[in-house]
Amino acid sequence: MIEGFGCTRALAVMAAVCWLGTGCTGGAPDAPPNVLLVTLDTLRADYIGTYGFEAETTPFIDALAERSVVFERAIAASARTAPSHASILTSRWVRYHSIGHVNGTTRLLDEPTLAEQFAAAGYDTAAFVSNPLLTRRIGLDRGFDVYDDELSVSARSGVVERDADATSERAEAWLGAERDKPWFAWVHFQDPHGPYTAPPPFERVELRAQPDEVPLPPLSNPSGYKGIPDYQVLEGVHLPSEYRSRYAGEIRYVDAAVGRIVAAAENSSPPRPLVLLLTADHGESLGEYGFWFAHGFTTMPEQTHVPLVLMAPGLKPQRRSELVHHVDILPTLLHAAGLPVPETAQGVALGPLLSEALDAWPDRIVFADIGTEVGAFQQDRMVRVFLFFGIGRKDPSSWEHWRWESDGSMTRREEDMTLRAPVSEYIARQPPLNETVKIDPAQAKRLRALGYLDPESNR
Ligand SMILES: [Zn+2]
Repeated sequence: MIEGFGCTRALAVMAAVCWLGTGCTGGAPDAPPNVLLVTLDTLRADYIGTYGFEAETTPFIDALAERSVVFERAIAASARTAPSHASILTSRWVRYHSIGHVNGTTRLLDEPTLAEQFAAAGYDTAAFVSNPLLTRRIGLDRGFDVYDDELSVSARSGVVERDADATSERAEAWLGAERDKPWFAWVHFQDPHGPYTAPPPFERVELRAQPDEVPLPPLSNPSGYKGIPDYQVLEGVHLPSEYRSRYAGEIRYVDAAVGRIVAAAENSSPPRPLVLLLTADHGESLGEYGFWFAHGFTTMPEQTHVPLVLMAPGLKPQRRSELVHHVDILPTLLHAAGLPVPETAQGVALGPLLSEALDAWPDRIVFADIGTEVGAFQQDRMVRVFLFFGIGRKDPSSWEHWRWESDGSMTRREEDMTLRAPVSEYIARQPPLNETVKIDPAQAKRLRALGYLDPESNR
């Protein structure tokens, strides 16, 4: 199992200063940097320009990527919102944090969080979230001075969420305040999440024509299997390409908000170095294996391949193909700020791995986990394990072996026994689930409106 560095603060500061290229000879470190974490809900990597998408969906993210490190193969901890964000904020695999695979009724226990580390180091901290699954009742607010989770029914989508304009307005106001201390901010944008109803002029992005496509029937459930999930149905819209075009429109809309947030962070006063990391909590199925416009039910790349873009002073822009994961975010950001990484961290700080002197990437296995299915990735290999009787089952029922090709496609391959022992060890882990958060009928209705499957039964 990959563990954190657990280095002393002095060593961490020295390492970060060397990484930033400002003082390897032991001179006084620069001012602590501001740190911005941006998470985008439901954004699959291959719909982003810098990840090869066919149309212009992300001019601002692409511009950011030009001056950043772009990790081409980043894997999400889960295909669900709450578990992935818990892994991002704690650097724990899904089976090692107390939210587990559950999406909305478990609560984070005492795992050290990213915000707590920054708060303890004297940072001002704030979070701005836009999805009802991320409100403070699940415990991700720990360590934040400000946790802005004021959500209401969106006039645009008709469901409880906050659109990118409203969230960025709040975040920009906070980032624009004059302050003596450095800050850490987490901004979560909801918009690529269905229903795909971006405001004008972002309603849709013109995509390549699909001449032979067949209209999809609307479903009366959120599964998306061979039809349009109930929460995604747009009146009079039946063609898959039209939904994909509107999904791309949502991305174009949220990209503009990313541009505003980045500008606000870079213009923060007084001026400080800025460390910025952008990722997504999970992707979205757009027809793969018969599933449309939904997520949360598979660990295949359409739902777990996410962007990961890292910018920091002195860090040379580059593209990397090594496998990275949500659990790497906490160590990476703390290390970049010269702060110690807690021993509980299961990821690695990516900054030091980018330098030639320390170019020794761990040949590790990373996990995507939805409770009933675990996807284990190692380089271009993937093992997909089905756990039909749910979490806690120690005798997996079936394994699939895949190769993740360089073009992003998946091909089946021969059984590979070398992954069986470490993956079995991970699956056998009993998660410390803390299912204490009750959902009242009104909250359940809000979550169903976003397609979440039966939140009362913790799926
Ligand atoms: Zn999500």
